[in-house]
Amino acid sequence: MMQEVHLERYFMGRLEHGADLMDALNQTCQRLQIGLGKVSAIGAVQRAVLGYYDQGQQVYQTISLNQHMEIVQLTGNVSIKDDKPFVHAHVTLSDATGRTYGGHVFPGTIVFACECVIQAFRGPVLQRALDTTTGLPLWQMQ
Ligand code: ZN
Repeated sequence: MMQEVHLERYFMGRLEHGADLMDALNQTCQRLQIGLGKVSAIGAVQRAVLGYYDQGQQVYQTISLNQHMEIVQLTGNVSIKDDKPFVHAHVTLSDATGRTYGGHVFPGTIVFACECVIQAFRGPVLQRALDTTTGLPLWQMQ
């Protein structure tokens, strides 16, 4: 279940200090009208909320990390959910000792500084809808 896409545009920029990371990524993609794409970023956060999906219970457990950390790597994609661009992102963060944490990025992750690259693709729309097998809002492949 794969479809071909074509790289159309690249964007580079930074997110505002103090912004909610997921709100800022979603708003950026909505403003730039990117409905299909790839996101990557490095930087630092003031605190983070990460998710781990419990496959048996089909619910997200959240992990709150109330400390300053580096964004070692953030990677994500852009598709359409509820008729608007939606970013799904995972992150690896490191603390003062270099120890790393990772997971699905939840709202409540606050930017200290974040340098971001977004690749916008042209191709068939990818819509998210509830997948009953996983309980997740997955892409509806045509
Ligand atoms: Zn995820």
